[in-house]
Amino acid sequence: MIELSDRLNAMEESATIAMSRKARELKAEGKDIISLSLGEPDFHTPQFIKDAALQAMNDNFTTYTPVPGYEDLQEAVVNKFKRDNNLIYSPDQIVVSTGAKQSIANVVLSLVSNGDEVLIPAPFWVSYIEIVKVAEGIPVIVNAGIESDFKITAEQFEEAITPKTKMMIFSTPCNPTGSVYSKEELRDLADVIKKYPNLVVICDEIYEHINFNSKHESLAQFEDVYDQVVTINGVSKAWAMTGWRLGYIGASKQIASACSKVQGQFTSAPSSISQKAAIAALNADPSSLKGMIEAFKNRRELVLSALREIEGVNINVPEGAFYAFPDVSYFYGQSYDGEAINNGSDLAMYLLNNANVALVTGEAFGDPNCIRISYAASEEVLAEAMKRIKESLEKLN
Ligand code: PMP
Ligand code: GLU
Repeated sequence: MIELSDRLNAMEESATIAMSRKARELKAEGKDIISLSLGEPDFHTPQFIKDAALQAMNDNFTTYTPVPGYEDLQEAVVNKFKRDNNLIYSPDQIVVSTGAKQSIANVVLSLVSNGDEVLIPAPFWVSYIEIVKVAEGIPVIVNAGIESDFKITAEQFEEAITPKTKMMIFSTPCNPTGSVYSKEELRDLADVIKKYPNLVVICDEIYEHINFNSKHESLAQFEDVYDQVVTINGVSKAWAMTGWRLGYIGASKQIASACSKVQGQFTSAPSSISQKAAIAALNADPSSLKGMIEAFKNRRELVLSALREIEGVNINVPEGAFYAFPDVSYFYGQSYDGEAINNGSDLAMYLLNNANVALVTGEAFGDPNCIRISYAASEEVLAEAMKRIKESLEKLN
């Protein structure tokens, strides 16, 4: 047997991807599985974006592109940041990558050295920790529970900072909790950031458009921390383009050029065709996303009201993204038919086997009391899934 690297052996498989693979395998065996495991819009990429891709191919945009992306795509990102977020970047502050996942990896690899601490508020998106570990950084978790709507306070943030702290990574709207940081809350975080000039914060805004109550606020809007913030975004969620693999950053020139250097050695650039398609997406009026946002909002209501009917389930009101993250710890210690539920992983497995519904354990997101339900599915499918979940949970005692 060939020995794999220590780096690989220390890495956890992505729990979201592992669960969706399991659901796919069971479906292929003929089981009637409903998968609410993967955070992926169930809409199709709009036709005008596909048309731009076809046009790109026909126009022979099929060769290597500049490493940080085509110049007209960088321009489109600059315009998008200005139009939607009031963030002023120049094209050389933009790097386009193979998904926001690679954007985050580029930034972490560019800045984190062996032994540097990276603060990650929990609940967090699964990949942050593993990317930090690959860069030989030390993930330091700052816990925010359901009682604080899963958001950290500026005090908690500052308390966690040590001389070794290099970075903080968080998402707003948050995957997995749906929590959204308000302008005031971001300002409070910025007051801490500005005191530590060597600290960089990755603000992952990939769910910015899926926000039900308020206008999206970016951390980089505050001039006194602008150079310390890297804004992450992408086309996967807003434009139902997960398979096109296209994400981007806005950052200081220094960080953008470091990311470009990393990317030049790993992937050269994202697909030329996806880049041209992304220009069409980014230039489109985001008000055309209204229908999708409305659909997600209705689905959220359906899932929340179904969860509220189940005794023992505790839930915050997710203001954005398309996840519910209920606290299900009430069921720990209970069992059904000899199968004991001791944690979120047991509960997720129980629901997979007993309810035929695939969800992801909260452990993967840093909160073992919870499970994550992705409600990026039709109302009909969600209603059936919630009925099954309720029935299975009620069997436990
Ligand atoms: N950040 C968060 C919070 C996410 O949920 C995702 C989902 N895939 C990503 C980044 C990465 O997105 P992508 O690589 O598809 O652009
Ligand atoms: N971000 C999505 C999720 O959290 C997609 C899966 C992934 O990229 O890990 O489910």
